[in-house]
Amino acid sequence: MIPNNTYDVIILGAGISGMSAAMHCIKRGKSPLLIESTANIGGRARSFEDRISGDMIDNGQHVMMGCYESFFELIKEIGMMHKIQKQQYLTVPFHFTNGEKDLLFAKGYGGLHGPIGMAFGMLRLNFLNAQDKRSMLLFAIRLKLALCKPGFMTAREFLLSEAQSDRLIDLIWTPVILATMNGKPEEVSAKVFVTVLRLAFFGSGDASSLYIPECGLSELFEPFEAWMNEHGGQILRSMGVIAIDIEHNQVKGVTLQNGTKLFSSSVITAIPPHALQKVIPDALNHLYFSGLEHISYSPIVSLYLWFDKEFPEIQLSAIMDAKTQWIFRKTTKMPSAKSLLALTISAGDEIVGISTEEIANLCAEEVRQCFPEMRDANVVHWKVIKEKSATVLLDPNTEERRPNQKSPVDGLVIAGDWTNTGLPATLEGAALSGKFAASLI
Ligand SMILES: Cc1cc2nc3c(=O)[nH]c(=O)nc-3n(C[C@H](O)[C@H](O)[C@H](O)COP(=O)(O)OP(=O)(O)OC[C@H]3O[C@@H](n4cnc5c(N)ncnc54)[C@H](O)[C@@H]3O)c2cc1C
Repeated sequence: MIPNNTYDVIILGAGISGMSAAMHCIKRGKSPLLIESTANIGGRARSFEDRISGDMIDNGQHVMMGCYESFFELIKEIGMMHKIQKQQYLTVPFHFTNGEKDLLFAKGYGGLHGPIGMAFGMLRLNFLNAQDKRSMLLFAIRLKLALCKPGFMTAREFLLSEAQSDRLIDLIWTPVILATMNGKPEEVSAKVFVTVLRLAFFGSGDASSLYIPECGLSELFEPFEAWMNEHGGQILRSMGVIAIDIEHNQVKGVTLQNGTKLFSSSVITAIPPHALQKVIPDALNHLYFSGLEHISYSPIVSLYLWFDKEFPEIQLSAIMDAKTQWIFRKTTKMPSAKSLLALTISAGDEIVGISTEEIANLCAEEVRQCFPEMRDANVVHWKVIKEKSATVLLDPNTEERRPNQKSPVDGLVIAGDWTNTGLPATLEGAALSGKFAASLI
């Protein structure tokens, strides 16, 4: 029940950007109404029950890094930080399909974190030769001294201009770019890539450490609604907004799908670009919104494989020379399964068109090749999730045109992982955009 129809602030979309915007509005003394078209909060970061196994699984494994300040601000506020497991130092085992393995352990002498730890970690990698290590170190120094100037180019063009060999790009930079930007080096913006490197991989302290939720994503955000209610906000679920009402370039409120009109002189949209286009058709003629039509998306394919054999005691692994990119060890309550793995394939354009069964067979075979202990393991159950529009593809053109949160319509503010934060379209980008948006109200 909505007590009356006028609100301080109306926020569209209860994904991470909407939740972050709502939290920051509350911290600024407002009482926002957050409207979500589906029954759940979390947006593209959500869980559901797999009926056959009884396990709660995410729409895709999500990983965070130590540099996710704005996202962790949200999680801390709702008291769920204890549900996220933190690596003390970035630790990534690499597994190859010929059974070989290596380990990136970003700890320097005396326990140093940050760029020094990262440099030590890279020097210790066996699959890189001396020449690779020299050119990576030189590149890292140039990054640290802000000598690299990524112009309007792709990450691959930029890496080549920084004397990174094709081999280094394939072995090191491609996995980093796929995981952090959901795009290929020849597609994504060099500018955003450099920001990722500066903030995460060569940032200070534990910026590069991986943080992995121990529970499903929906469970992680579950306390948010109670937090909102306690702090004077409200959430309206299962109710889409069909129009943002604008008169004489001033926001007046929104129209819900049941025809109800709600009023506010401040509206924050925290919805994806294609959804935004539908609710502001009249404002679209404005130059500010012109980039919306050119945005393209990049898919992520996620898989869950239940095996009849225990998987080695490895929390996660980067898979090399395979379709599978990452493997995460999960727990299962399925009686016939001894292990459950979550696998991810970012920028999966080539794989997204293949049948789910073929994807499951292909990836299960790669698990057997990479982990000799699993050679005789059978898959007892599998689930493939194709998120065709997982994130926007931040190519140099799109990056250049990402809209700022302040729109030209008075009172209308735009948030979302795709808006201009300088960061890739991630949980952190989404949370930061919400924070920026709230500061403009
Ligand atoms: C498979 C997958 C794996 C990922 N892995 C990672 C990862 O490891 N690390 C990481 O940092 N990021 C990851 N991401 C990206 C991350 O999930 C997103 O960047 C983030 O969740 C985007 O949040 P958002 O609030 O901007 O948008 P969304 O999550 O899309 O939220 C928008 C919300 O608005 C609602 N909505 C839409 N239209 C309307 C309307 N008209 N009225 C009301 N509500 C509406 C939608 O239902 C939705 O809930 C991954 C994404 C996917 C899909």
